[in-house]
Amino acid sequence: MQKKPFITLEQAQEIKKTYPTPFYLYDEKGIRENAEKVKKAFAWNKGFREYFAVKATPNPFLINIMKEYGFGTDCSSMTELMLSEAVGLSGHDIMFSSNDTPPEDFKKAAGLGAIINFDDITQIPICEKVLGGKLPETMCCRFNPGGVFRMGNGIMGNPGDSKYGMTEEQLFEAFRILMSKGVRHFGLHAFLASNTVSNEYYPKLAGSLFELAVKLHRETGADIRFVNLSGGVGIPYTPEEEPNDIEVIGEGVRKVYEEILTPAGMGDVSIYTEMGRFMMGPYGCLVTTAINQKHTYKEYIGVDACAANLMRPAMYGAYHHITVLGKEDALHDHTYDVTGGLCENNDKFAIDRALPPIDMGDILVIHDTGAHGFSMGYNYNGRLWSAELLLHTDGSVQLIRRAETPRDYFATFDCFDILKDMKYDD
Ligand SMILES: *Cc1c(COP(=O)(O)O)cnc(C)c1O
Repeated sequence: MQKKPFITLEQAQEIKKTYPTPFYLYDEKGIRENAEKVKKAFAWNKGFREYFAVKATPNPFLINIMKEYGFGTDCSSMTELMLSEAVGLSGHDIMFSSNDTPPEDFKKAAGLGAIINFDDITQIPICEKVLGGKLPETMCCRFNPGGVFRMGNGIMGNPGDSKYGMTEEQLFEAFRILMSKGVRHFGLHAFLASNTVSNEYYPKLAGSLFELAVKLHRETGADIRFVNLSGGVGIPYTPEEEPNDIEVIGEGVRKVYEEILTPAGMGDVSIYTEMGRFMMGPYGCLVTTAINQKHTYKEYIGVDACAANLMRPAMYGAYHHITVLGKEDALHDHTYDVTGGLCENNDKFAIDRALPPIDMGDILVIHDTGAHGFSMGYNYNGRLWSAELLLHTDGSVQLIRRAETPRDYFATFDCFDILKDMKYDD
């Protein structure tokens, strides 16, 4: 499928007059249409709820859009909890799925009334202690089946190598301990594969979690209120991949639900999801300008964004499609490395990529960066965080996070006297 940016060259040039590149741009229309589809796909389940994974795109304006669809948030840290609180979420609007958790984070989560999802059995006494001996009525546990997670002929994930979740044995023990401590309602959670571009992942995961839920209920008597399928529903980063069809995925989950949970008398279990990438990924892009070209042993185009703005290519070798605005239909007869300016040779958004001839000043759109894009930014080489902008359905553009300035960068040196008289121009 051809990848088309959701802005034109003219729009980008207009935006650039007010907000210099690089910047992240999010497409409200795309976000909303997708959110509707997610709701519809799981409407068969009365208690269905999506808990948007805050870490994917921690912006209160975007989380507010999620909130309009009745979605909550999935948090893993103190500041993610604070962000959820700031947009008015509380109680069971918030899922706290964290690992290696500082005790005070449990306290904050419980203070907000969030559902705490235990990553490990050893967290139980730590959490209990910090909460003064009183655990919440509803709690969740994260399962890790170990081994490899296979689907069809392929290996989709490697749970046996992952640090998350409890073994089945620990899970049963955790449920019994929690019940003995007065916990009354339970959830079951697992995240076994990331960025699955397949309609089979959720149904397959759901099938095994539903069977486990039935077993847990029968053997411990625990009242299981929800099964949390977590994240992992992927998006097609390359033009060749077929996008997931969330309606087919929802139907697939319904089928196994009716095969396993309904006959076991558990037809009132709610389905929760914690999707991040699928909710935002395709509806955000990084907009950047070509500022340098270099010909040595290869052809390089230097842009004004760098891996500090978008880490995925450097970190995972991830593919992100690139469109040169205004040259969408030009012959892609040049081969470039598209680079940022970090002093790290992996700071390349594309390697040996066929693109149209690029001139200095051309505006490039780096696609599918709406999730795990901005949020994975950092300050290496003193690079500053870019702005985030929201393209509204009516075509207007709103600044939803301003770009960082040198003043922000130096703010944490306020303990260092010599800086206090220095002037930083914003
Ligand atoms: C990262 C994460 C998610 C979101 O994953 P996506 O692949 O973005 O959907 C959900 N839940 C937990 C616990 C996570 O760590």
